[in-house]
Order: sequence, then C-alpha cells, then structure tokens
Amino acid sequence: MIRVVSTISEMRQARRALPEPVGFVPTMGYLHEGHVTLARRARVECTSVVASIFVNPTQFGPNEDFARYPRDLPRDLSLLEPAGVQVVFHPEPSEMYQPGATTYIDVGPTAQRLEGASRPGHFRGVATVVAKLFNVVQPQKAYFGQKDAQQVVVIKKLVADLDIPVDIIVVPTVREPDGLAMSSRNTYLDAQQRQAAPVLWRALCWAQELWQAGERDARRLRREMVSLIEAEPLAQIDYISVAHPETLDELEHIEGPSLVSLAVRIGKTRLIDNITLGGP
Ligand code: AMP
Repeated sequence: MIRVVSTISEMRQARRALPEPVGFVPTMGYLHEGHVTLARRARVECTSVVASIFVNPTQFGPNEDFARYPRDLPRDLSLLEPAGVQVVFHPEPSEMYQPGATTYIDVGPTAQRLEGASRPGHFRGVATVVAKLFNVVQPQKAYFGQKDAQQVVVIKKLVADLDIPVDIIVVPTVREPDGLAMSSRNTYLDAQQRQAAPVLWRALCWAQELWQAGERDARRLRREMVSLIEAEPLAQIDYISVAHPETLDELEHIEGPSLVSLAVRIGKTRLIDNITLGGP
C-alpha cells in the first residue's frame, strides 16, 4: 500500500525505514504519463521510491496560477501506486514554510534567463523547495523531466555548488501523439486552443530540420521559429531561445550542442517546450 505523509517529521521517520538506494520524484501533482515515467524509471534504478506532491507557493508570481493550479490527490495516488512509489510526501505550504523562515537559495545567472526573466523569483522558489525536499527525503537519486530544461540546469548547479549528495537523473520529455509535451497546465486549454498547442513542437521540429540540413546561424533558427508560430493566430510568443545548454547564454553561431527552448501563450495558458540539438 502506498503511504501518504504530510509532515516533515513523519516523512523523516518513513525515510528511515526505507531500504536504500532511495529515488525521489518531486512533483506539483495533477499527474500525467510524464510524471509516471519519472517514477517508473526511479523504481527500476532504486530499491525505494518517494514522490512529493506539493504546489510550491514560492515559485509562483503574484499574478500566476497558484490558486487555480489543478489538484487531485486520489487520482495522483492511483497513478503512483502501480508505478512502484512507496511513500508520497504531501505537505501543506504552512508545513514547508514555517512562520519567520527567511532563507532562500539564489542560484545566480542561469536562474535569471529565459523562464527566470519571464517569471522573476521562480527559480529562487524552485531551488529553495528542492533543497528543502532533498534535506527531508535524503534520496540517493532524484528524477527530473527534460521538459523543464532550465530547471534541470538550475538543479544541477544547486547540487554542485552546495555539495548536495544527490544524483540528478534527467528523463526525456513524454509527449501526446501530436507532439504536445504533456503538462498539468494542458488541462487549461479549451478544444480550439488544444488544437493550436502543438505549434510549439512543430517549431522545435522545424529548427531541428534546419539544423540537420546544416544551418548553424542561431538567429536564422529563431527567425524561422517566430514566423512559424506567428502563423498560428491563438499563439503569442513569450521567448524563443537558442542557447548554450549549460550557461544558457544565447548563441549567434551554433558550434557544439545547443538548447532550443520556447515559451508561448495559447490564450491565457503559458506553455514551454525544448529540444537539444547535437546533444549526447
Ligand atoms: P511538475 O509537476 O510540473 O512540477 O513536474 C514534476 C516533474 O515532472 C518535473 O521534473 C518535470 O520536468 C517532470 N515532467 C513534467 N512534464 C513532463 C513530461 N511531459 N515529460 C517528462 N517529464 C515531465
């Protein structure tokens, strides 16, 4: 039986009884096949698996969707149990952020670009909650999706800079049959918007095709993606980036691997996606 715990002390106690290595899958819940893939991978590689379900208030901006972010714990548990998760940590915000807590983690420049530029403070919230969750769960390995590519860069920097003894495992993006990256936020889309949403994936595939044909001018790739997305009336570009995969510096000329990422609004819903060109 899957066990749900909601306090830090219960989680620490449950953790002590788990055979190692322990794998950890942090999530905000309202799970889909992408999250379940992370859990299954953890189950294959670790003896015990802990998942967390926590809609973390500190990573949402004041005008973002914290209050209306979808939540459905019973459904989430019915997906995690068959994936082999033994313990789910599901704290309230007041458990994670005690009154008077004032310490936050600032990861530096990689956290300020792209998502960080559009969502100020987002990665400060992410880095802080992930460090706290690592301290509570104390996993040997933690599983993150390539879907949130910049989050992976930030978390890898966090564990390297602060000597946190957790292996970060990155899992490829799980997509719908039409290429749309699975996301809890896809449930915000109405039928017409849902039809428009694969434009992100089409733009990434077009960039990849051009790159495969030998195009190395990053500005041209950005321009081509902009035109493709602008042809979709429901889509509004937030950013389109062709960047170094570790520093996230924007590139002019592509020499080594590059991270092509974008954020696009479809109606009021902000979607992100990415691919790596020339990666391992
Ligand atoms: P979230 O609940 O959105 O915070 O996501 C929890 C974890 O699942 C993060 O590491 C995400 O990158 C990962 N994830 C979300 N969507 C996908 C997807 N479509 N494919 C793979 N991993 C995903």
